[in-house]
Amino acid sequence: MGSISIVILEELGNQKYILKCAVCGGSGEMSRDHDGHSPYVICSVCYGRGKVLVEVSGSLPFVTCAVCNGSGEMSRDHDGHSPYVICSACLGVGAQPITGGMELIR
Ligand SMILES: [Zn+2]
Ligand SMILES: [Zn+2]
Repeated sequence: MGSISIVILEELGNQKYILKCAVCGGSGEMSRDHDGHSPYVICSVCYGRGKVLVEVSGSLPFVTCAVCNGSGEMSRDHDGHSPYVICSACLGVGAQPITGGMELIR
């Protein structure tokens, strides 16, 4: 599976950072075994952009989200009813500031 690393693509200042989307790994698509109706699903965290803009209200550095282990997704039963569940702790980013919180802007 490999290790999940936090990728800061850009620092915008004012506590705003562009991070690589953890859920889709920057591809902009959710890779899913699906029912065959759609070949792919646009990532709902980054809207297919592969990156997310966050505003940090805590202290850096970013650390791997402990809830989803950096994947951006909650582990779930693969019952096929929902394609994925976004981690509510990191909003699918896979990373969090070491203290405090952050807001997903886009
Ligand atoms: Zn994404
Ligand atoms: Zn998480």
